[in-house]
Amino acid sequence: ATPTALMVGTGRGAKMGILIKNGEVLEAVNDVQTVVFDKTGTLTVGKPQVTDIIGDSKQVLRIAASLEDSSEHPLAAAILAKAKADNISTLPVENFTAIEGKGVAATISGQQGVVGNQKLLGDLTFNKQLQQQETRLQNEAKTVVFVGLDDRIIGLIAIQDAPKPTSKEAIAALRARGLRTVMLTGDNQRVAQAVAQQIGIDEVIADVLPGDKAAQIKQFQHDGKVAFVGDGINDAPALTTADVGIAMGSGTDIAIDSGGIVLVKNDLRDVDKALALSQKTFSRIK
Ligand code: ADP
Ligand code: MG
Repeated sequence: ATPTALMVGTGRGAKMGILIKNGEVLEAVNDVQTVVFDKTGTLTVGKPQVTDIIGDSKQVLRIAASLEDSSEHPLAAAILAKAKADNISTLPVENFTAIEGKGVAATISGQQGVVGNQKLLGDLTFNKQLQQQETRLQNEAKTVVFVGLDDRIIGLIAIQDAPKPTSKEAIAALRARGLRTVMLTGDNQRVAQAVAQQIGIDEVIADVLPGDKAAQIKQFQHDGKVAFVGDGINDAPALTTADVGIAMGSGTDIAIDSGGIVLVKNDLRDVDKALALSQKTFSRIK
């Protein structure tokens, strides 16, 4: 394509709220074969809500909210919002630590408290009933976190993050082009699968630790050019590793800086529009 055609292409994108960094990015879009999506905040709204509490709900919520008070994770925000809505006050904690991809831990009233997934709990024993509740909730596309005090699990909290209204249509458009679509997430396999089914996405890679997202992108690059769509701090390495990094405009500054394309309107249907624009700019038959 001529420099003029490139300017026209990127200019058209900008008018639609699709900011394309340069002509090379616009060209690379045309060769993409696989589109990989982050889940939370990208395919889903990113505003998770507490839906179920198993155990003594007041106690479970008080402990969980106290432990999550210093966390910046969306799941922590959901737990704190629920505690606030239910007028549950938090207790002071000491030695707060966030464990990436797992949860948080702190000392509370002299006891060791944890909130997080199974990976965080290590040796804490589960009774069969808790396991069954976890499975049931996960099949409903809810993320389950356990609340533990010393060597005992006192309850669990289910948190749901709804798919964005346009995610399904956005995926259908890409699949209609013959592209492979993938969800990449740190969330649990069962939850991820349930969300993928709601959205119509082909493949799921779940339980991915934040530091491993870029390595997953490299795997997909064995099969052709890859676009990655994400919004979080965690997504920055994957955005720069992908042949085309696409950041949500609502994302963190680091994600936006790492993306070759920014979707200002936060509408995933604009991924397909970017493909159409690239195709139009680079097709030999004008
Ligand atoms: P994603 O890739 O979907 O954004 P993350 O890597 O941020 O997911 O988190 C993966 C999983 O780690 C969560 O689904 C949850 O089980 C657990 N987790 C992480 N941070 C927290 C937290 N602050 N409280 C509870 N659980 C957490
Ligand atoms: Mg995210």
